[in-house]
Amino acid sequence: MFKAIVIDKTDAGQTARIAELEGSDLPEGNVTVRVEYSTVNFKDGLAITGAIPLIQSFPMVPGIDFAGVVETSAHPGWKAGDRVVLNGWGVGERHWGGLAGKARVNGDWLVRLPDAFTTRQAMAIGTAGYAAMLCVLRLEKLGVKPGDGEVIVTGASGGVGSVAIAVLSKLGYRVAASTGRPEGADYLKALGAAEIIDRNTLTEPGAPMQAERWAGAIDTVGSHTLVNVCAQTRYGGIVAATGLAQGIDLPATLYPFILRNVTLSGVDSVMAPRADREEAWSRLARDLDPAKLESMIREIALDDVIPAAGDILQGKVRGRIVVPL
Ligand code: NDP
Repeated sequence: MFKAIVIDKTDAGQTARIAELEGSDLPEGNVTVRVEYSTVNFKDGLAITGAIPLIQSFPMVPGIDFAGVVETSAHPGWKAGDRVVLNGWGVGERHWGGLAGKARVNGDWLVRLPDAFTTRQAMAIGTAGYAAMLCVLRLEKLGVKPGDGEVIVTGASGGVGSVAIAVLSKLGYRVAASTGRPEGADYLKALGAAEIIDRNTLTEPGAPMQAERWAGAIDTVGSHTLVNVCAQTRYGGIVAATGLAQGIDLPATLYPFILRNVTLSGVDSVMAPRADREEAWSRLARDLDPAKLESMIREIALDDVIPAAGDILQGKVRGRIVVPL
């Protein structure tokens, strides 16, 4: 028997509870993993609360990622004892996810955990940190170099933002952190932010073209924030957009793109190809300072995940939550 969060749907809506499950309850899959750690990402908050109808079948075990040890495998790539991490592929949405003592999945979805990381560290990174690394890689691939100028990170105190700041600063970029929590400035500076930007300067509608400032940007917020960031991006600059914490709307003009050669580049982590995942995890092993990662972590019990799901949507969570199973 193992504990899990289970989401059901009734006529009254979606409900979440802690349940005791056994191996025979698990869905189809060719690899069974003993989950050691999972986490609570923003998307888990959306799924567990039902704020957006993300879950596509019920009952569902949420948790869009997990790290653990292979227990049994009928997949040629994996054997018992292998340390693995899984991010996305619809787990926790279409297939039972990581907020459970065990998970059974398609072995093609697993990535070998780099030796540099414990399973706890892997979930301190989680989908948020892996998505942050995909954004950094996107800026690099589109040509933003450390000497080119400032890079802004929005939603700075959140999971994606925190990891993005830590990695960018280690790589030598000068990072500006946009936050609605000025009281957390010391935390953001310790991660490597050179400057704190009040997010209220970005969340409201602004002029379509503003003073040129950013060589690059990682945006986790969307809506007017993303539009203003694009309007402030320098000629030829790159904006990697991955999140929607403010909203999914994009009330923009074309001016930054057709007059300043700005590139708005979307970053998805869920269906990212295996090669991109392996590159991101190996670069995290190289470019994320473990001491900075530790400063982001809050550990909570599985029993506390359901209230934490509401907290993350309200912007009350700083850094990353880890959940031992
Ligand atoms: P967090 O909740 O940890 O961080 C989001 C941060 O955004 C908050 O900490 C807060 O930062 C800021 N924020 C929250 N609400 C608002 C608001 N109304 N207006 C402006 N800023 C706000 O979430 P994650 O870091 O886990 O995820 C960030 C976003 O990225 C989410 O939308 C998530 O769904 C998305 N995401 C997308 C992925 C993909 O594959 N495309 C993968 C991973 C994440 P502060 O207090 O510093 O202002």
